[in-house]
Amino acid sequence: MTTFSFSLQTGETGPLEKGSEPDRLRIPIPCHTPILSEGDQVLVGTKIAIANHDGSGDMHAPMAGIIQDILPYSMLIKVNGKDRAKTKKAPSADGAPLKEWLRDMGAQVKNIDKAPILIINAVPPEPGISIYDPLLRDYRKTLELGLETVQRIVKPSKMFLVAAKGNRANAFANCTVMHVAPTYPNGIDEMVIKAVTGQEVLPDAPPDDTVILSVSDLYFIGRIMETGRPLTETIMTIGNRNYLIRVGTPVGFLAEQAGATVQPGDRIVMGGPMRGLTAINLEQGVGKDTTGLQILRKDESLKTTDNFCLGCGECERHCPARIMPGMISRCAEFKQFKRAEDFHIHSCIECGICGYWCKAQRPLLQYIRLAKYELALLRKDETPSDMIVQAETGQAGEKE
Ligand code: SF4
Ligand code: SF4
Repeated sequence: MTTFSFSLQTGETGPLEKGSEPDRLRIPIPCHTPILSEGDQVLVGTKIAIANHDGSGDMHAPMAGIIQDILPYSMLIKVNGKDRAKTKKAPSADGAPLKEWLRDMGAQVKNIDKAPILIINAVPPEPGISIYDPLLRDYRKTLELGLETVQRIVKPSKMFLVAAKGNRANAFANCTVMHVAPTYPNGIDEMVIKAVTGQEVLPDAPPDDTVILSVSDLYFIGRIMETGRPLTETIMTIGNRNYLIRVGTPVGFLAEQAGATVQPGDRIVMGGPMRGLTAINLEQGVGKDTTGLQILRKDESLKTTDNFCLGCGECERHCPARIMPGMISRCAEFKQFKRAEDFHIHSCIECGICGYWCKAQRPLLQYIRLAKYELALLRKDETPSDMIVQAETGQAGEKE
């Protein structure tokens, strides 16, 4: 059994490394409309799909190749060269035109609007994910360019950089540096907003006066400005190293490059051990927001069950949103999705801690995500296709 720790301390990390080049890319397009067809040749940086949601970035080809197939939520590119599309110049105007240009270049600019408070989240999102550390150490200029660019849209009067105590967090531009305890889930945006402003907010609903971005968001915006090329990469912690990985790289390829053999029954988790999503198969490609890769061995991970709730209250005791995960899970289990709202399901920040502590090993986070998805379908005011409905998260290991 692996030992699991909630610590967000990253220790010393090595440089950011370039991931190997796969011979095919399975690019996720969960909320995009493809603008090309099967058989089309693309260059590095060719736009291949337009985001359907305001603020989501458009998708561009990370490598040159031929589009081999297009499925509802992904696109396969067979790599065949290195030719690049032309670079694009950023607009000189600030505000909305700059935001729209960044979105067109693939950056996620949702919620980047004029606001008096700008928060840079440098707290690792999950235990074992150290992607911000090499950026803060080795890519200061790019980060500062990213920050200058964001400032041209947000026009903040106060800026904060929030880091986990004990991790790298020197003075950064003219941000006030704040520290939070290096314990999960303190890196989740809602927790960071609360640490800075004292306000509790619902997931994905920052207060009107606050914009929050991660260190990697700044890095990607800085890279777009430096190069005039679209965002086609993500940064991932694999093992204890950090890599720049092309979007769409299959998880099986990454596991192979890391020297790992995936056996039947093992799970590849995209992201961290608490909030990550199990890949459907070895060919699934990583997205722009995939922060890590974990392999949960068949006999090492906690087994989720359909055990009934014991009513022990252990999940409630640990829930940072102070809601009742056990009751919500029962609503989902018996398809009483509307009732889950009576138990404040929308306050859940999806940290996964309840499932970790559940005495009955119930898949609590999975039940909660299922209920949120069903509620979105009922409301019909959201596009369910952008909500990931994969059932499993990786909740690794044993309690310390
Ligand atoms: S995932 Fe569980 S512990 Fe975390 S906020 Fe939601 S209900 Fe609470
Ligand atoms: S920890 Fe598990 S068994 Fe206990 S109340 Fe919560 S859901 Fe029920």
